Amino acid sequence: MKIDAIKVYQVDLPLKEGRYTWSDGRFVEVFDSTVIELITDSGLSGFGEVCPLGPFYLPAFGEGARAGIGELSSVLLGQDPTAISIVNDLMDRALLGHPYVKSVIDMACWDLLGKTAEKSVCALMGGAFGESVALYRAISQTSPDAMTECVAAYRAEGYKKFQLKVGGDPATDIERIKQTAALFDSGETLVADANTGWRVDNAIRISNAVRECDIYIEQPCRTYEQCLAVRRKTDLPFILDESVNCLHALLRAHQDGAMDAMNLKISKVGGLTKARQLRDLCVSLDIPMTIEDSWGGDITTAAIAHLAHSTPEKLRFSATDFNSYVTVKNAFGAPVRKNGNMSASDSPGLGIQPNMDALGEPVSEYRV
Ligand code: MG
Repeated sequence: MKIDAIKVYQVDLPLKEGRYTWSDGRFVEVFDSTVIELITDSGLSGFGEVCPLGPFYLPAFGEGARAGIGELSSVLLGQDPTAISIVNDLMDRALLGHPYVKSVIDMACWDLLGKTAEKSVCALMGGAFGESVALYRAISQTSPDAMTECVAAYRAEGYKKFQLKVGGDPATDIERIKQTAALFDSGETLVADANTGWRVDNAIRISNAVRECDIYIEQPCRTYEQCLAVRRKTDLPFILDESVNCLHALLRAHQDGAMDAMNLKISKVGGLTKARQLRDLCVSLDIPMTIEDSWGGDITTAAIAHLAHSTPEKLRFSATDFNSYVTVKNAFGAPVRKNGNMSASDSPGLGIQPNMDALGEPVSEYRV
């Protein structure tokens, strides 16, 4: 099988809630998503998606994804997309860094590998553990009262895991955490994710002020060293996200005892191939994972479901159903949340069919 052509689509994904706000006042109202179609000489096409959380969450942005695909197109055309290690090696040789660009290509290669083998990506990754994957809901940063109401509404929809977007004014963040934590029963999970927004001194003050709450602290500060300094001064369980973006960072964090769980995002680490490598290492090291991506629609949600469902339940901290956050459906057949859970499809590849009406005309096209 050979890649004959690459089509790139741009899709706007407006947010159902209108606006998603996190630390330092950053927000997005319409997500800029990129979908790729790898067209092969076999008649099969593979699809992938990458959707940065705006241009200021990770070093990634929508136009960057599309330009990066153009940059890599000449090394991809003519290659066998099911030879995934070779494709990844070629991409890493041709372009340093830019993991989110490689992620969308790698995802489409997994879709094609599954379609060729007539197996789901989940089956190719080792098989589904359990019936379904428990999801968390991210709660956009607003007033403490509004966030508490929002948590109550999503609890009623069946979610049992929540991530509060904090990383704002310390006194208000303490209120946000305390008010929400007071709602919870045992068996539910609450994470306060500061998304790098706290200074070290404030992170320590806030952690001390909420020490009686049953919560996790996620990525309080900008750098790894700052997070480690906070970690050493709190008893609260600790999650790293933005600071752990590759295998080397994971090994270092494990060696330093810097975290109790990690947030594994597919495009942050360069695609499903590398995410699976980190996932398998976390399983061996007994590190629980939130398995997700920066953002996305139906195609990203399907990819998350395959990676998460093929992860042992004991090490699955949570996952995300981004397709339930946005108003546009970019594919059919993606997982649909039921009572706070989702399942990976048994259909070949990612198990999705692109919604061509939503994708529209390609914004660029590359051919042999
Ligand atoms: Mg996070």
